[in-house]
Amino acid sequence: MDLHEFRRYAHEIVDWMADYLENIEKYPVMAQVRPKEIMNQLPPDPPQKSESFEQILADFEKVILPGVTHWQHPSFFAYFPANSSPPSVLAEMLTATLGAQCMIWQTSPAATELEERVLSWLGKMIGLPPDFVGVIQDTASTATLCSILTAREKAFNYSINAKGMNDKGILTTYCSTETHSSIEKSVKIAGLGKEYLRKIPVDENYAMIPEELEAAIESDLSKGYHPICIVATLGTTSSTAIDPLRKIGEICAKYNVWLHVDAALAGTALLLPELRWMIDGIEYADSFVFNPHKWMFTNFDCSAYFVKDPGALIQTFEILPEYLKTKEGDRVNNYRDWGIQLGRRFRALKLWFVIRHYGVEGLQQKVREHIRMAKDLTKKIEESEDFELLAPVPLNTICFRYKPSKIDDTEQLNHMNEKLLERLNRTGKLYMTHTKLNGVYTLRFAIGQTYVKPRHVEQGWQLIKETAKSLD
Ligand SMILES: *Cc1c(COP(=O)(O)O)cnc(C)c1O
Repeated sequence: MDLHEFRRYAHEIVDWMADYLENIEKYPVMAQVRPKEIMNQLPPDPPQKSESFEQILADFEKVILPGVTHWQHPSFFAYFPANSSPPSVLAEMLTATLGAQCMIWQTSPAATELEERVLSWLGKMIGLPPDFVGVIQDTASTATLCSILTAREKAFNYSINAKGMNDKGILTTYCSTETHSSIEKSVKIAGLGKEYLRKIPVDENYAMIPEELEAAIESDLSKGYHPICIVATLGTTSSTAIDPLRKIGEICAKYNVWLHVDAALAGTALLLPELRWMIDGIEYADSFVFNPHKWMFTNFDCSAYFVKDPGALIQTFEILPEYLKTKEGDRVNNYRDWGIQLGRRFRALKLWFVIRHYGVEGLQQKVREHIRMAKDLTKKIEESEDFELLAPVPLNTICFRYKPSKIDDTEQLNHMNEKLLERLNRTGKLYMTHTKLNGVYTLRFAIGQTYVKPRHVEQGWQLIKETAKSLD
């Protein structure tokens, strides 16, 4: 493809992108395909000869698009949002065009310095204390792994990196029963053993019970184990429960244990000063992660990882083979030493575009509106005779179920709600997912899509009520 053709197709694709977003409500939100339906349309062998770009684009529309779940659809209420936005997409086009590697300062000085600046903006935007320093990771899972590895190294004066874990005894970690699965994954990868990850019980709001945490630490200490890390969650994935950070922080300080805060979704809500109560006690934290790629209009991937002691992070990850040595040395950040990957995408650019395009006030307004819509729907569910709220709604996610008054049996209700969800998603008009809270099959309605308006929530609610009736 020469540059003349590139220009022509680029214009064509930009038109396609704008048309797609303009017409997105015509697509079924959840892809309505069966397993292998897409695969069977793809030839088993790669083409030996060049194919025309027209043909490739035509197949994208015909073969691929029907198998796509439309995360940017305004009636996407599943999981948590992974939203995008026009400024973010435009920045990604530039990032892909530059194709720069951002592993050391010299390989792209602007990328390094923009990342440092934008992450410092971001820390201020969400009310983190000024001593936190940020770096972009691909995902919260990776940031949490970095945190647990740093906690492990710091606890043993960086000797495990050098000598392995052989004589270190048993290292214990702590999170709540509602914590995201990425914590367990990190514990496994870090060689700590998932048997030694203590899942602390939660209260009626699904938040960690600090007294149970302290009891678990005491019990481990009495066995001669080494508690090294506690993960507190702000906004659990099931129900957006908020762990009591200050109380957990005090326990971390008392026992000298590393505190990591997972606010993958809820970090965005901290843009709103009225929600900063969630980080009361943040001064106890050693690290904090949140995903602009979830709710902050910055397309995947972009996870903001903040640490209080960048030296500890760097000491855990640094490498310096001859071919990566540069004369700038310590005067600049070399982000290859701030995480797992060596090669890094230029992800700060889209964050910069998004923050500048909306401005802090524009971002606050959108997030506040999402939370307001969630409160409105919560009220309707509470007032409805046939539906039941199953968890508090501090943010944008509503946990509820269909519960006609004549039915009380948990199994029967679980079964009904599973069927309801299946039917709803089959309509293609909205997409929701479920969780289980205390063994109860729970429908989740997460509002945070870039393009969601009150009418989408209202239409969704009407559809839920109608579909539930049709089950009887
Ligand atoms: C989504 C989520 C994660 C995982 O995020 P990734 O960026 O996909 O790794 C971790 N913790 C919580 C609380 C989440 O909501």
